[in-house]
Amino acid sequence: MSSTILVTGGTGYIGGELIDQLLAAGKTVHTTVRSKAKSELRLRTRWGDAGERLAVFEADLESDAGWAEACAGCDAVAHVASPFPLAAPKNDDELIVPAREGALRALRFADGSGVKRFVLTSSAAAIAYGHPLEKKHFDHSDWTDAASPSVAAYAKSKTIAEKEARAWVAQNAPDMVFCSINPVAVFGPIANDDLSTSIEMVQKMVDGSIPLAPNMGIGVVDVRDVVRAHFAALELPDDTVRDGRFPLQEKFMWMRDMAATLRARAPELAGKTPTRPMPDFLVKLLSPFLNEMKMLKSELGKTRDVDGSHSAQVLGFDYIAAEQTLEDTLRSLAEHGLIK
Ligand code: NAP
Repeated sequence: MSSTILVTGGTGYIGGELIDQLLAAGKTVHTTVRSKAKSELRLRTRWGDAGERLAVFEADLESDAGWAEACAGCDAVAHVASPFPLAAPKNDDELIVPAREGALRALRFADGSGVKRFVLTSSAAAIAYGHPLEKKHFDHSDWTDAASPSVAAYAKSKTIAEKEARAWVAQNAPDMVFCSINPVAVFGPIANDDLSTSIEMVQKMVDGSIPLAPNMGIGVVDVRDVVRAHFAALELPDDTVRDGRFPLQEKFMWMRDMAATLRARAPELAGKTPTRPMPDFLVKLLSPFLNEMKMLKSELGKTRDVDGSHSAQVLGFDYIAAEQTLEDTLRSLAEHGLIK
């Protein structure tokens, strides 16, 4: 395996977990953050004893500054950083521009530094949106239709970034080994109180912010499996992963079943987890006034079941059961004092 790896977005949930595992495996890690001043305390608390095996660089997805230094001396890049907000932005470009420009910038500087392997953290959002309603099952060959008016800004940003990254590699760096990891919603244990959007959803389910379970479903995958997949994508032989597209999902679950799982597996922590369904008409009624309801409205009753089995087979791991993942998410939130 590569010995020095750049993981972009070291302040993020997945980026942080990946850095943990790479350091534990004895690798040297470079990481990018937007502001060293803002993240210094957090980075020092988490990796203070990594010494020279962790180098931190300031680099924004929307600017060239810092990228050459971050890539220098690296054999491989895991490009994880990309905006992942809970609420939809006012303008789609707030997400699309940093996602696309960031991926292309990371590729350009990686190639310029002689990086041989590039693993892009894409998303199932680049796979399962903008399709006809009847289509419920998806795999690595499916692409979100970013031009469809039904597709939200985040899914557009991930689709456009992945497509353009693949095209850039084909045209400019055909010898670079490129692949993407495309997880559904990522849950699991957390390291600190800086919560990723997916984890916030579990917090909101148990603290009463989501008092009734809307009629929507979501694919579940464990962050430990997402890290295992990235690790394998960095490590396996070139021909095993070259041009690969690796969707990750253990199971598609309806919100009502997620709520029932939390109540059954950690009743003492499940607090105000919804026990009753949210009628569709209520979501539709509130959608003009509440941004979250607007997003929910477009998901009502839709199945987006993404097949992650091929990825697990090629990358060589077994998924943690979604029920265990949800329980571990809740217990971890409680351990960090993040459940009221
Ligand atoms: P996260 O905790 O919000 O991390 C996002 C990271 O991206 C942070 O380090 C953030 O830095 C960085 N970032 C955002 N905008 C940036 C910019 N303009 N310049 C530089 N860095 C920027 O989210 P996450 O869950 O770990 O997500 C990581 C990746 O996984 C993303 O590519 C996301 O699309 C993908 N993904 C996540 C999920 C999920 O459910 N969590 C599912 C599928 C795919 P700051 O700390 O400075 O904001």
